[in-house]
Amino acid sequence: MEVTFASRMNSVGLSMIRQIMQKAQNCTNLGIGEPQFLTPAVARQAAQKFIEGGSVLYTPNAGIGKLCEAIIRYHRCPLGYRACVTNGSQEALFNLLFSIIDVGDEVLLPDPGYPAYTTIVEMAGGIPVTYPLRVESSFQIDTPNISSLFNKKTKAIIVNSPSNPTGQVLTDTSLEQLSALLEEHHTIAISDEIYSELYYNGKRPPSLSQHYPNTVILSGISKMASMTGWRIGWACGPESLLSKVVVMHQYTSSCASSLGQEAALAVLTPEGMSAVTRRRQILTENRDRVVKWATNNWNHRTHAPQGAFYFMLPVSHLRRSSLEVASELLKDQVATIPGGAFGSQGEGFLRISFANKPEELNLGLSRLKRGLYRLQRNLP
Ligand code: PMP
Repeated sequence: MEVTFASRMNSVGLSMIRQIMQKAQNCTNLGIGEPQFLTPAVARQAAQKFIEGGSVLYTPNAGIGKLCEAIIRYHRCPLGYRACVTNGSQEALFNLLFSIIDVGDEVLLPDPGYPAYTTIVEMAGGIPVTYPLRVESSFQIDTPNISSLFNKKTKAIIVNSPSNPTGQVLTDTSLEQLSALLEEHHTIAISDEIYSELYYNGKRPPSLSQHYPNTVILSGISKMASMTGWRIGWACGPESLLSKVVVMHQYTSSCASSLGQEAALAVLTPEGMSAVTRRRQILTENRDRVVKWATNNWNHRTHAPQGAFYFMLPVSHLRRSSLEVASELLKDQVATIPGGAFGSQGEGFLRISFANKPEELNLGLSRLKRGLYRLQRNLP
């Protein structure tokens, strides 16, 4: 029987990231952004104790009360904020966009940016409108230049700091300027802070929520504690916005796993946060290694990441699209992600993830160097 899918699925397919990774057999992985550390002991112990207790049941829709309170404290949320715990921050993003977007609403998204933003906005019937993050502006938001993108249909904007794929952290000045613009246009702000514990300049990146009250923060334990498989994330924001997110969440998944929530609660304790700090220290060493590698081997202007675990390597001089470069490099047994996967501003770059073990990172970088020199010698 031929199936006719809903038209909202027309533009939904496998992302360029998945396409490359499916072909990446026997490759060193500098592609997928997933830290390879163990779950912190304190979280494992909390989960074990919870299972031994024997009662693994539904939790309230919005999540265990204590966890919601810990999330609000962790983000130093303004008064009147509430949290909803979800199956990864991805579900929070989905529920939020589906609860605020009407057909034809425009949503401003970063280019380059996390590909799921565009897809989910489109699935919800919205129109993605991208704002550029240019390497010449150190991947910062150029607020005066994006004001022309706002109009009556603009419903929301997504900002992601630290950013996937640029590793850039938005400055307080940049966020302040942006919030003035959002105030003027009554725009809902979605601040994706999933990488906020992974920073390399000494202090946690500022949050748009500290400048602009109409902000929903998205975050979770996936990246900060290397707990991607536990699938615990959250949205927190003003009660007026969050109330419908909780309703959406009730129908998409009822509640996040009670086991995962117990583990997440342990991550947000001082002991859990010390484990996060240790993981950040190792990632800092990896980040320094990649920056040094690029400086020593690469004549082209690079941008040292301030957060997350991604590095944007310029490759436009190889006279191939970023997809062609990434595909060619699979022959050298190294997987990287074409910058074009993240939007037109990402074209001309490869995204390199440095979230792996140091030995693997070293091997990947040496394979990458060999492959890039090979491509440089054989320009089309
Ligand atoms: N936002 C960004 C920018 C991401 O890179 C990711 C994961 N790659 C997510 C959200 C989703 O993370 P999770 O669902 O594991 O919380």
